[in-house]
Amino acid sequence: MKSLNIIFLGRSGSGKGTQLSLLKKAYHLVEIDSGELLRLLAKGKHPLARKIDQVLKEGELVPTWLVVYLWFQKLMKLPLERGVIFEGSPRTLNEAKILEEALNWLGRQKFQVIYLNVPEKEVIRRLSLRRICPKCLREYSLEFKPDLKTCPVCGVKLIRREDDNPKAIRNRLSYFKKDIIPVINYFKKKGVLIEIDGVGSVEEVQQRIRKALD
Ligand SMILES: [Zn+2]
Repeated sequence: MKSLNIIFLGRSGSGKGTQLSLLKKAYHLVEIDSGELLRLLAKGKHPLARKIDQVLKEGELVPTWLVVYLWFQKLMKLPLERGVIFEGSPRTLNEAKILEEALNWLGRQKFQVIYLNVPEKEVIRRLSLRRICPKCLREYSLEFKPDLKTCPVCGVKLIRREDDNPKAIRNRLSYFKKDIIPVINYFKKKGVLIEIDGVGSVEEVQQRIRKALD
């Protein structure tokens, strides 16, 4: 049986992290999270670590060849029967084409691209309601608990994430429009795109994704 390979796309604040981890469990997929792999690399003891750390801190894109190298390092160790799910990749149309080529070459021709569609307006609303505990890093939404001021676990005062300020949110949304919408259109033309309405409860959205995949 050919394995299932998934590329997961969605705006920041669309709930894609939650949906992705549920999907990963349900289909026993190995996650390839470019951001996480880069952060690990930045912590390593090698001459490149500092440079990568700097690029990440400044919020700049690391070069495509480096991301491809990280994908390959993970993929080469996995048996073909084991499906994978990509998080944080591709970040550009160019990367999308390279990833497609790589998956085909590696014998992972069966892949689906899931686009979790939550409109901009709704994403801005959700992000403005998101709070985080600076101690345990748990996330909460004031949508469900409007009076929540402190973390129920630690008792520490909740804060807004540093990157949830209006300017940073606008930047992430314009990046999505400029770089990810072309990726979505590209895969749509290829007939491998599954668009999922991301508005609803976590369970509802997860059901929609599973139904579309089965
Ligand atoms: Zn806490």
